[in-house]
Amino acid sequence: MLAVRGLRAGYGAIEALRGVDLDVGEGEIVTLIGANGAGKTTLLMTICGMPRAMQGTIHFAGSDITHLPTHRIMRMGLAHAPEGRRIFPRMTVLENLRMGAVVSDPAFLDQDLERVMTLFPRLKERIGQRGGTLSGGEQQMLAIGRTLMARPKLILLDEPSLGLAPLIVKQIFEVIREIAKQGVTVFLVEQNAHQALKLATRGYVMVNGRIEIQGSGAELLANPQVRAAYLEGGAH
Ligand code: ATP
Repeated sequence: MLAVRGLRAGYGAIEALRGVDLDVGEGEIVTLIGANGAGKTTLLMTICGMPRAMQGTIHFAGSDITHLPTHRIMRMGLAHAPEGRRIFPRMTVLENLRMGAVVSDPAFLDQDLERVMTLFPRLKERIGQRGGTLSGGEQQMLAIGRTLMARPKLILLDEPSLGLAPLIVKQIFEVIREIAKQGVTVFLVEQNAHQALKLATRGYVMVNGRIEIQGSGAELLANPQVRAAYLEGGAH
């Protein structure tokens, strides 16, 4: 579904990605963990076409998307829920969800809304409420729900658990599992390494713009280096 090879990207003189190779297979939940500033967000953004790749290739669902503009990539079935739940605060929940559907066939709107409401019953209860008045957890649900309205093949989630209470984090992770069951491939960036690795089929560890360790979720959970740096205090 996603194949990244030798990817380099950054901001002016700052090279944030220094040769990244990774794969996400269809139907997988793959997680990327790493310390603050490792380059995780930059990777997701580069996959979406902004910033542009300086070197290397990105293939999505069999097509080379390395040099495509963001809107073309989105139309091909790739959706991105950025860090910090960028919902539209003055729009209602329903309006926010409709915004997510702008790239998909309007004939599916009602069906897609129903699907998102089933995943997130809380959003159904708050359908007429303004996005900005939702709790942090509800805003995260809305941000994920909005990406699903685009009927993506692959979703990129950037730290969906950030700043949320443990119970809400658990709910968000359960929904991610459910989304994958429904056939959407998931690439998840997380600081919450323990939960993310438990959920993931496979994981990658990024250090200073490069992938340093990779393996199944279980392998990484048992890896002494990963445990020391990301699971037992260490970097977090
Ligand atoms: P975090 O977990 O803190 O979000 P991250 O792994 O997602 O970290 P990035 O946000 O990708 O890391 O940052 C990678 C590097 O690129 C950092 O050194 C950061 O300072 C730099 N960087 C990120 N965004 C910009 C920008 N817009 N302009 C200049 N440098 C940037």
